[in-house]
Order: sequence, then C-alpha cells, then structure tokens
Amino acid sequence: MSNNEHLFARAQRHIPGGVNSPVRAFGSVGGTPRFFVRGEGPYVWDADGKRYIDYVGSWGPLILGHAHPAVVEAVERAARNGLSFGAPTEAEIDLADLLCELLPSLEQVRLVSSGTEATMSAIRLARGFTGRDKLVKFEGCYHGHADSLLVKAGSGLLTFGNPSSAGVPAGVANDTLVLPYNDVAALEELFSAKGSEIAAIIVEPIAGNMNLVRANPQFVQAMRRLTEQHGALLIYDEVMTGFRVGLQCAQGLHGITPDLTTLGKVIGGGMPLAAFGGRADVMSKLTPLGPVYQAGTLSGNPLSVAAGLATLNEIRKPGFFEELTAKTCMLTEGFNAVGRELNIPFCAQSVGGMFGIYFAEQVPDNYNDVMNSDRARFNAFFHDMLEQGVYLAPSAFEAGFVSAAHSGATIMATISTARLALEHAK
Ligand code: PLP
Repeated sequence: MSNNEHLFARAQRHIPGGVNSPVRAFGSVGGTPRFFVRGEGPYVWDADGKRYIDYVGSWGPLILGHAHPAVVEAVERAARNGLSFGAPTEAEIDLADLLCELLPSLEQVRLVSSGTEATMSAIRLARGFTGRDKLVKFEGCYHGHADSLLVKAGSGLLTFGNPSSAGVPAGVANDTLVLPYNDVAALEELFSAKGSEIAAIIVEPIAGNMNLVRANPQFVQAMRRLTEQHGALLIYDEVMTGFRVGLQCAQGLHGITPDLTTLGKVIGGGMPLAAFGGRADVMSKLTPLGPVYQAGTLSGNPLSVAAGLATLNEIRKPGFFEELTAKTCMLTEGFNAVGRELNIPFCAQSVGGMFGIYFAEQVPDNYNDVMNSDRARFNAFFHDMLEQGVYLAPSAFEAGFVSAAHSGATIMATISTARLALEHAK
C-alpha cells in the first residue's frame, strides 16, 4: 500500500469520504487522492515523495506559486504579532484601500473568510437593499455552498453528478431562478415576466466551475441593461476570476461596472480570505450602518490580510499579467497543437492565468456543451498526466491555473507530457 493509499484509508475513518471538500476525493476520475506534504513554486510533493507540476494551485489562490517568499515572510511577520484580535487593524484598511484602488467598481468593501461567505452576504445585501427575494443564477455556475446558490450549480456538484443539493428547503430553492449561461433571450423573457421581483443576478463572469466558459458580449450587456431597467442588482462573482484573469478582473475585461462584486482565492494568497463590495449606497445597508446583518469572528484575520496584501503587491507590478497571460496561452496553444496533430477532439482556451481543457471539437458555450464533452477520455488523460507528474484538477468541470512560478520550460514539459497522454488516449 502506498502512503497515499494508507492515508486515504485512515482519513475515511473520521472524515466523511476522507476529505474536507468533495472534489478532493477524486470522485469522478476514480483512484486515490494525493496527500500533499510540501509545495514550492510550481511543484507539489505527495506523501510518497513524488513531485508534480501543479495546475490546481489550491483551486486558484496561488497565483505566485507555492510558498512564495514574500507571502510566507508577511504571514510569519504577522503571526509574531498575534494571530487574531477580533478587532480592527490597520492592515485591514490597507487591504480595503488597495482593493478599491485596483477595482473601480468597489466604493466600499468588507472582508470575510471564504468565497461562500462573500456570495452569501452579497445576496443577502442585494435582497435587503431591493426588498425583493428572487435571485437569478446560471446553470453550471458555482457560487459556494449557501442554500440559495446550490441550485443547478457547478464544481463539485457537477463532478458528483447532481447539480443541486439535498437539504436545501424547497422554499429557498424556489427563490432561485436558473437560466442557461449565455442565453440572452431567456434572460429577457424572465425579466419581462418577473423583473419587479428580482433582487439580483449573480454570475461567474467567466465561468470556471463548469470547465472554462466565457460570457459572450451580448450576454454581458444584457445582464447589465436588464438589471438597471428593472431595479435589480448585478453581482459579479469574481471569487475565481478576481485578480486571476487580469488586474482589472473580469469586469475590466468586459467593460462592465457591477453593483456588487465578490472576491476570494487570489486576494487571500492561500490564506482564508474573501471579500464583497461595490456601490457605497448598497454597502451602507450593512450593519452597523444599516439593517442587513453580516459578521465573522475571524473576518479580516491579520495573517490572511498579510498574505493578501503581499500577493496583491506582487501581482500589481508592471508586466505581471502580460507575462502570466503569455505563459498560460503558451500552455493552451501547445495543447491545441497536439490535439490537431494527433487528430483528437481536444481543445483548450485561457483567460489571464486561468485555462480550460476540453475533450470536444470546440470550446464550450454553456453547461450542456460541457456535459456533452468526452468525460471518460478526460478521466484517462487526467490519470496519465498524474502518473507522469502533472497534477490537473481531478474533474472535467474545473478550470486550471498557471502561476507566476511556472516557467516556460515547465510549460513546455507539460505539453510534451500531454502529447504522450493524448497518444495513449487515442
Ligand atoms: N464563487 C466562485 C466563483 C467559486 O469558484 C468559489 C469556489 O470555488 C466560490 C464562490 C466559493 O468559495 P469558497 O470555496 O472559498 O467558499
């Protein structure tokens, strides 16, 4: 028995399924999850001492790679001054100021500890602000595991074949109206029927929880126009795309000013930190100023804030995103070239430091396209890559991530590995 197998067997005694978050269990790809003991730059090492090039990056936060010295040093320094106060600190102001400076749609921002908390708080705020209950979301988009968002969601729910969760009261689910992604006609129809009841649209502006799906410009414009016309709020869930697709996030790429934005992952640099923010007139409805309650014992935790500030200070350096984007393109173009050469329906695309790989002729436009891809082939490819030392997300529904620590040589090595894996998969 390998150390990974031994640990997985042990983990299952006291942890349901042996994991603390479901996609980690290798449920759809099968096999034994890898238990990691160390990460450095683009690499991780598992409990059997095997090294992998890592394209998961803790599901997105590690844009600088593992154990980046500036981030580790900032966390160590903060830890020496105390782990948590449950009281305001100056560093929190620095982070809030920086987020508002980098993202013009943020007039005010509040820090929380997970993306789920950010989206849950943002939708409560939107409901409190508008006095309406209905929420619009899109099939295949994942916004964390708050009740009203676990309806036709992506990520782990798709991985395990059930896009909605048991335990969500029907009354709550009924207030979540689900539409296909990129479908302008469906959006227009819904708003003309129920526009006055809708508190908000929440959207992954570039979806990364059903593989990688770009919102088309007409869809983006329609969301902004219809919410404005009907007095609803537009919430850009940038937990994944925020400071990952570019310094101005997806909203900058789209040229859209959302009313509220949720952030997570990169802004915590690998520590538990997320945020929601936007229009000051909306944010001022939060307690202690207004009637919408939201709180957290560890919100704005000093270690998380230190990691976030250190990360943002690195990624705002000139040229950072140009280089990251170029490297990620190099990877996806390499994958596409191999797919063409071997005449396999295999394609890839990227935005900034985020990419999707996909066993079909064309990149997907919505949830149905992703469901129709050759997922059995993905699973074989995943295991072949893993065997050869490349760690991809263990699900055909998840985006991948390149970090600044991935060198051109690392990426070229990954493309060669993929060629072998695709030859095997032919
Ligand atoms: N929103 C999006 C777009 C996400 O990708 C995720 C997590 O993957 C979340 C929200 C939830 O974040 P967390 O896992 O930190 O609760």
